[in-house]
Amino acid sequence: MGLDLTRRQFAGGFAITAADMMARPAFARGEAKVVVIGGGAGGATVAGTLKVSNPALDVTLLEPQAKYTSCFFSNAYIGGFYSLADLTHGYSGLAKLGVTVIHDRAEKIDTIKKTVDLQNKKQISYDRLVVSPGIDFKWSAIEGYSQSVAKTMPHAWRGGDQTFALRDRLEKMENGGTVVITVPKLPYRCPPGPYERACVIAHYLKQAKPKSKLVILDAKMTFSKQSAFQEAFEKYYKDIIEVHLSNDIDDFTVARVDPGDGEIRTNAGFNIKAAVANIIPPQTAGAICLQSGLADPEWCPIDPASFASSKAENVFVLGDSAIANEMPKSAFSAHSQGLAVAARIAAELDSRRPDPARYRNTCWSIVAPDDAIKIGADYAAGPLPGGINGLVPSNAFVSKPGESAQERKATYDEAFAWYPTLIGQIFKTETRSKSSKVKAG
Ligand SMILES: Cc1cc2nc3c(=O)[nH]c(=O)nc-3n(C[C@H](O)[C@H](O)[C@H](O)COP(=O)(O)OP(=O)(O)OC[C@H]3O[C@@H](n4cnc5c(N)ncnc54)[C@H](O)[C@@H]3O)c2cc1C
Repeated sequence: MGLDLTRRQFAGGFAITAADMMARPAFARGEAKVVVIGGGAGGATVAGTLKVSNPALDVTLLEPQAKYTSCFFSNAYIGGFYSLADLTHGYSGLAKLGVTVIHDRAEKIDTIKKTVDLQNKKQISYDRLVVSPGIDFKWSAIEGYSQSVAKTMPHAWRGGDQTFALRDRLEKMENGGTVVITVPKLPYRCPPGPYERACVIAHYLKQAKPKSKLVILDAKMTFSKQSAFQEAFEKYYKDIIEVHLSNDIDDFTVARVDPGDGEIRTNAGFNIKAAVANIIPPQTAGAICLQSGLADPEWCPIDPASFASSKAENVFVLGDSAIANEMPKSAFSAHSQGLAVAARIAAELDSRRPDPARYRNTCWSIVAPDDAIKIGADYAAGPLPGGINGLVPSNAFVSKPGESAQERKATYDEAFAWYPTLIGQIFKTETRSKSSKVKAG
């Protein structure tokens, strides 16, 4: 009988002896070992939330970087609205809670033996494994592009050096240069990100290099918040931004780049020379997922009710690496999924039936000083049109063209309030609100 008792029953006064407790598996005694791979929006959320809900739990976070520079909100830095320091955060808040933070890379997962091999040759075991390594890039998808070419033609689709490199190249570009942003087909991290980036770069060019141009080469015909973005392109950056969307005849998917002279060639043979090339390559789940059999073939299938991996027991995959159907790959989504995964693991520890998971996302995009737009929805597991089980959206909303200046200013202020709030929730730190450095004028 002891083995089936829940903690609630124990607290409620059932006669249970210490011997009964010891006879239960460690996981059921709340002594489980949870290992989290990736200290970003998803992973750090799970580690901190679990430790707050059960301080006795052994939680280890594996993250190679000592500091996390977020990719989310990095367009604010590229456009001059925020500093890079504003985007950079440490792990001391999580360590203070008792999370064991190991700055090392997970090299291999053995889902049968329940072990993770680290780069420094150590091996650690787990009862539950949480995997949130973000994205990796398909380096071979574009001829001439590689990790080393990305230093001169930055993707800036991961935070840190790449974000800095893109801003640096913009600052060094002559007035009159052409900036080219290339956008892959979906799925990729942050669907509205390239168009927000176009707006903030065009804002910078308008102020600092007004003879310059910005060209978007997009591998698709439609994109997130399209009508509100198109209105912003027309209203603020008419003489700067030029958009090429792929249709049946013109395929603007990038086929080849030449870092020597900045040439970019598309599948349909369109050719352009960029003074600054922002090449966003096609993406996959984090490499560790592909190497460890969690992906099928490039992203990780999960149970939408829990984000439990469909490929391995006792493993949860969340954030950008997971196949979350309608839910965009965003930090907001990853955090929301992280809260649900932590609640699920805590329920399993307590042998409790978990509450149904509810998820949420909102993505804000800055289009100009004091002007931002947003898109969002709530999500829950359920049947999608066509019958397959997925994440069903409800209460969806999206900014529309023609909204008043007050409404847009309110959305802008929400975005700048959201970032430090989320950072505080992810990294368990006191993060002071920081408003935009740029004022409308
Ligand atoms: C330009 C841009 C703008 C964006 N703006 C927004 C926005 O405004 N709002 C929003 O919600 N989202 C935004 N995003 C998206 C957001 O950055 C991601 O969706 C989010 O960071 C995903 O969280 P994650 O936990 O999956 O991955 P990440 O936050 O990238 O964290 C993954 C972590 O795992 C670590 N890692 C990787 N491999 C291993 C390994 N083998 N072992 C150990 N650790 C490993 C990495 O070092 C990294 O720290 C933006 C993205 C971009 C590119």
